[in-house]
Amino acid sequence: MENVSRSARKAVELKSAAELALMRQAGRMLDAVMREVVGAVVPGITTDELDRLAKARIREAGGKPAFLGLYGFPRTLCISVNREVVHGIPGKRELVEGDIVSIDCGVRYKGYFSDRAYTVGVGRIAPEATRLLDVTREALMRAIDQCRPGNRLGDIGHAVQSWVEANGFSIIQDYGGHGIGRDLHEEPRVENFGTAGSGPRLQAGMVLAVEPMVAAGRGETEVLEDDWTVVTKDGSLAAHFEHTVAVTDSGPEVLTRVGDGQDWG
Ligand code: MG
Ligand code: MG
Repeated sequence: MENVSRSARKAVELKSAAELALMRQAGRMLDAVMREVVGAVVPGITTDELDRLAKARIREAGGKPAFLGLYGFPRTLCISVNREVVHGIPGKRELVEGDIVSIDCGVRYKGYFSDRAYTVGVGRIAPEATRLLDVTREALMRAIDQCRPGNRLGDIGHAVQSWVEANGFSIIQDYGGHGIGRDLHEEPRVENFGTAGSGPRLQAGMVLAVEPMVAAGRGETEVLEDDWTVVTKDGSLAAHFEHTVAVTDSGPEVLTRVGDGQDWG
């Protein structure tokens, strides 16, 4: 789930070492849950089954599903298929070979949040879909690399936008990332577009949910009649990757990833 400004704290909060330690735990928990849920994506499974799996695993680990009940959202996961960008509601839909599925999950643990999204193909997918996933994931990695003290917020957006557009895809500009901590959505908003060298400076202690959303076609969106599901207007495929990232004096620390991410993301 991305930024909804009505909930955001007004100032950017810097996290202490003790707070970062708790957020690291929330992030590791979410990494384990997401690995299992993404691994369970096969033709024939329903989005409801994936949602139940995530809810059970989060609770077994001692956490709370962050999205459940937030702004009235009814489920643990946002699951968005093909032209759906974000905020899809799990239900009876069966995934079929060739679909691409964006899974977004948040965990609350000891009062702190983590937030993570990943787009996975169901069985064999079209080459263009594979390229969309690869470009969006790489956009996230490039954005994470900008999360260093002294850089500016606009450097993150610029890294995403320049890479995505150079590859012929479009940024979805209606939604963006956010600060994260004791609230799921805090200041600042982290746009996926922008000008290098612009905006506030990043400081050690900031924790940001960085989350490129990319369309294979044009980037305009609309919301379906369920008042949640965001889709591309032109029906083109969309992908979404997200990590929770701490800005530290020694560089970006990805809290929602155990290890270097080479094995899965
Ligand atoms: Mg999310
Ligand atoms: Mg988010």
